[in-house]
Amino acid sequence: MLNRSTDNVVLPTETIIITSDLLVAMTIEHVLHMAKGGGETSYAKNSWLQRRALLETTPLLDKAVREVYMALSHPTMTICDLGCSSSENTLFFVSKVIEAMCSHRRELGASTKVELQFFLSDLPVNDFNHLFLSLKGFKESMAVGHEGDTLPPFYITGLPGSCYRRLFPDKSVHLFHSSYSLHWRSQFLDGLEGNPNEGNIYIAKNTPPYVVKLYQELFQKDFLLFLKLRYEELVFGGQMLLIFLGRKNEDAYSGELNLVYGLLAKSIQFLVEEGLVGKEKLDSFNLPIYGPSVDEVKMVVKQSELFDINKIELFEHNWDPYDYSKSDHVDDPLQSGMNVAKCLRAVMEPLFGRHFGESVLDALFDKYAHNVAEHLEREKTKYSIIVLSLKKG
Ligand code: SAH
Repeated sequence: MLNRSTDNVVLPTETIIITSDLLVAMTIEHVLHMAKGGGETSYAKNSWLQRRALLETTPLLDKAVREVYMALSHPTMTICDLGCSSSENTLFFVSKVIEAMCSHRRELGASTKVELQFFLSDLPVNDFNHLFLSLKGFKESMAVGHEGDTLPPFYITGLPGSCYRRLFPDKSVHLFHSSYSLHWRSQFLDGLEGNPNEGNIYIAKNTPPYVVKLYQELFQKDFLLFLKLRYEELVFGGQMLLIFLGRKNEDAYSGELNLVYGLLAKSIQFLVEEGLVGKEKLDSFNLPIYGPSVDEVKMVVKQSELFDINKIELFEHNWDPYDYSKSDHVDDPLQSGMNVAKCLRAVMEPLFGRHFGESVLDALFDKYAHNVAEHLEREKTKYSIIVLSLKKG
């Protein structure tokens, strides 16, 4: 039975209704995951770019935890990381929440016992096993330095499901966190006849304006739905800290992601020329990702009439996750090209393997590393990351 409580997109997972709309909507949810396990090309080993965003936003997390803690009227604080994936980044987040709690309790001299319940949530095909295998070590490491009763009891649970569906009962969560996840769309672009975005995989200079509009509308629809769902699940005074890829410029044709994915499309074009990938495979593929501007994000929050914005800002990180320099020059473009390619491969490999074939992945990402190196030699480029802190009033 359809549950039409919110925009008719909320379907119980066990429901199977065969309409083409639903099939489009279902595919991402049932196939998307980062590279599994803990091997050389895994997400677990190649997620430093995402770790840097967590490091950058720790002060905002600290503030959110403090405010939620101060307003807590229940002995358990419920916290959820949406799009947790399978690397230790999500446990780093957990550790930061626990540390924030410890320091606020010390400061306030609070003696009441508060327990923390963490939900680590991602799509069902996420490698939860890999993540949960590291829990024992994580708990042991948290205990070090927190001997005595300073460490609050904490419990960690996995929660498979899309953040574009209901995940929790009404008013049961105190804090939502999501990092490097909300730029992913809920579905592939729908209703494209005759491959209008030929030769591209994202918005490029020759992408027709109506395709750009489809991307924008899908972002607005997804984000609005996300806000409505989380609003229902949050307690009054609950907060959300959301970090995702965006763009500096208002013009959707000139975002930083357009460059990153433009070079990826160029690498696939090379494989098409070599006869390794069919041209129709490239022409029919549009990344289910959209990087909005700060204004686009603000507009949807305003339209929702649900949340107060504590803070919204944009920060930048070099494409190469290991390049911390502020200079306009890339010291070692070849090495940086390889670093960028490894990082992107860990994110895209499962999706690209399914669509373009696993056998072409080595060639594709070698070419990509080369193309990125060439680009970085001419121009140092950065990712734009939006951080949004919201409160349910
Ligand atoms: N937050 C982690 C992982 C980021 S990778 C970190 O900072 O390292 C992005 C994750 O978002 C992936 O694991 C992907 O499966 C997840 N994701 C994408 N769309 C999602 C959705 N609709 N619901 C839940 N998770 C989603």
